[in-house]
Formats: sequence, C-alpha cells, structure tokens
Amino acid sequence: MRVLLVEDDELLGSAIQTGLEQFGYTVDWLTHGGQAAAALEREQPDLLVLDLGLPGKDGLTLLRELRARDCHIPVLILTARDTIDDRILGLDMGADDYLVKPFDLGELNARLRAIFRRQSGRTTPLIYYRDMVFNPAAHTIDINGTEVQLHAKANAILEALLQRPGIPLSRERLEQILYGWGEGVESNTVEVHIHHLRKKLGKETILTIRGVGYMVPKP
Ligand code: CA
Repeated sequence: MRVLLVEDDELLGSAIQTGLEQFGYTVDWLTHGGQAAAALEREQPDLLVLDLGLPGKDGLTLLRELRARDCHIPVLILTARDTIDDRILGLDMGADDYLVKPFDLGELNARLRAIFRRQSGRTTPLIYYRDMVFNPAAHTIDINGTEVQLHAKANAILEALLQRPGIPLSRERLEQILYGWGEGVESNTVEVHIHHLRKKLGKETILTIRGVGYMVPKP
C-alpha cells in the first residue's frame, strides 16, 4: 500500500514515515501543500495522510480541490486543530477519517486499515480465499490450518492481488505499491516475491498473464 504523507513538522513527519514503513506501507513524504497538490496531479497513491496547517497550501484547501476534481483518494486528516467544528469541516469536505495530534502510531495504522477495508467493501480485517485466510495486518496467511509468515513486500503484493481477484496488476503497478519515489526499484523484486508466494501458496494461486502482469483468479 502506497501512502502519501503531507506533514511540515520534520520530527513528526519522519517519525510517521518510519512508523508506517515498519507496518509495511510504502510512504512518500512531502512537507509543502503546493508540492503535494502537484504530486497528486501526477499520480495517485492508495491513501493520503494530510496535515492541515501547511506552507504553500493548507490541507483543507488541498482536500477541497481534490474532491472538486472528483479525485476519490481516501484521506485521513492529521491535525492539532481539535475543535469539533474543525473535525466536522474536515469530514464534510471529504476526509474519510480524522486523527488529532498527539496520537499513537498504532492507532494511525489501525485507522488506515479500517479505511482500506471500507474502500474494498470488506468489513473484516481478514481476507478469505479458497482454503486460505490472509491477515494483511499481521503479515500472515493461514493455509489449511497452518500459519505462514510473509515478508512485508510479499504481504503487500498479495494484499493488492487479493483485493481484486480476476483483475491483473502490472509489474509496474506492483512496484509502485512497493517503492516510494526516493527508492531505487530493484528490477526483479516483484518476480522474486511472486516466486516465494507461489512456493508457499501453490503455483495456481498467482497466475502470470502474459504481457499484462499478475492475477489471482476468481475463487
Ligand atoms: Ca503543520
């Protein structure tokens, strides 16, 4: 899952980025509202974590502009503005959730997971597929009663594929999910993790669609 974090406080931004990366997210971090708006015109991450008080363009203006151009990216607002009016304004303007500083990184992670679940129409944190039970938060998959631990990147690949069975994802799309802007993409990372996933889950679980990418077939 690829998260764009927009937070101008260097210490806090760095702590959030490190924390979310430990939870398995790929995090791009910007400190300027105008730069964030430009970045979101170029590409759309899976989720936006947005501070309100920002240089260049404040968070509420950025959010209003995103929704005005029909951009549906899920947005979690992070702010020290904790009056009820501010929260109502943020939610009414199209935010999906709201977290007041100071907050706990574990709570932020749980709220992001809840947003992703709502997005994908799932109400439980587990994904059931054939005889497997996948727990993306714990990076584990239960196969016929045996729990298997997954590498963070393999976990992210499997989560992306299992959210849309029957729909192939290109290698480039999977690389975007795994890597932030600043990181060099290792050319065969996706193939390596697909290979390991197939060894654990069975060859027929992840299909290669020639010239398109990878797909989990509909159960
Ligand atoms: Ca700020």
